[in-house]
Amino acid sequence: MSFDVLGLSAELLRAVGEQGYTQPTPIQKKTIPAILAGKDIMACAQTGTGKTAGFTLPLLQRLCTKPARKGRRPVRALVLTPTRELAAQVAESVETYGRHMPLSSTVVFGGVKINPQIERLRQGVDILVATPGRLLDHVGQKTLDLSQIEILVLDEADRMLDMGFIHDIRRVLALLPGNSERQNLLFSATFSDEIKKLAHRLLNQPELIEVARRNKTADRIRQIVYPVDKSRKRELLSHMIGSHDWQQVLVFTRTKHGANRLAQQLEKDGLVSAAIHGNKSQGARTRALAGFKSGKVRVLVATDIAARGLDIDQLPHVVNYELPNVSEDYVHRIGRTGRAGNEGEAISLVCVDEHKLLRDIERLLKREIPRTVLPGYDPDPNIKAEPIRNGRNNNQGPRGRQQPEGQNRRKPPAKRSGRGRGTGTNPVSGGPRG
Ligand code: AMP
Repeated sequence: MSFDVLGLSAELLRAVGEQGYTQPTPIQKKTIPAILAGKDIMACAQTGTGKTAGFTLPLLQRLCTKPARKGRRPVRALVLTPTRELAAQVAESVETYGRHMPLSSTVVFGGVKINPQIERLRQGVDILVATPGRLLDHVGQKTLDLSQIEILVLDEADRMLDMGFIHDIRRVLALLPGNSERQNLLFSATFSDEIKKLAHRLLNQPELIEVARRNKTADRIRQIVYPVDKSRKRELLSHMIGSHDWQQVLVFTRTKHGANRLAQQLEKDGLVSAAIHGNKSQGARTRALAGFKSGKVRVLVATDIAARGLDIDQLPHVVNYELPNVSEDYVHRIGRTGRAGNEGEAISLVCVDEHKLLRDIERLLKREIPRTVLPGYDPDPNIKAEPIRNGRNNNQGPRGRQQPEGQNRRKPPAKRSGRGRGTGTNPVSGGPRG
């Protein structure tokens, strides 16, 4: 099936062709006609399925059916994302796919100066991509009018709830025109009861779109567990990267401190590495990601929240240096590989303390992940499991208390002061066109 039959305009087909896409992905086949028909949708789509184009292409087309207004004008489409990186990537997609259309877009997220964003908003934009915190900062400063929103997209809604954004989302919804006056598109990798509640409140007779079975990891991803003692994980990781000559590896740790420490240790092993997590400045995160994408950085060590939304084409290897405390995060983590038709490998280094976490993950996946013990790295049967607390084990030595990033999930965020809270902003991109 080619893109031509989906009802997209010539400008969009041209942009898609320039990207080298020859046929729509399964999610795109379903979302594009439904969104073009003006329906609300609730789409269960894993990351890497092409969902961004799945909502961006028809969104651009729908906005284009009405003539763009000149000068200062209210925003017509709002895309909310949980993280800065995802916001930046979605905004890039809007730019790319909309390059032949007379629509303007920009992105706002926290962690960078607000004034350039205010200036850009003042010029008038049709499509705004935003993280919830900075969006509300703009509303508080009266630099943004959301009363004319025609299309609302909640991208990675499950992660937004996990990150405690529900109150911010409610506040944003209260600023929009009524549900029935706008088109609402909700994307989520998993469907918890909380998401269903949000969907019920937000969507009008939505079309339910599901391309992969609920919580199922992409079939193209080969998953393997390597049982190993905790004290030998770093050694095993360096050995694997070196012996297989992996050139681009994304490694997950549970904590920010753990990410920093592992990146430093890998550097000592001669592997160019960088860490990204929520305590790093936006500049440092962007630099690390750019280095990783360009091949200068061989190993990127990340926490779950920092890695959310990273779109790195053809990433061949993802390593769970530590299993996540929340099983759904495993699905998100390994979704970084095996994207858009490519093969991928997801490796988990699992010590005795993590057996329960592994069982939880396997229960969620409804399948067992194959185990392979590497000769020389067999776990010592005399080591007994210890509980994992605060993202680290008791027997890890006196390294001070540390929390897994996102430990405050599900707690309502502190009352906003009207100033940036750190989550949410972005250099302005996308000038007016046409
Ligand atoms: P997403 O799930 O939106 O993050 O997209 C994952 C990756 O798939 C991105 O790198 C897109 O550029 C790519 N992609 C999206 N649609 C297509 C398509 N129809 N054919 C090939 N690649 C695509």
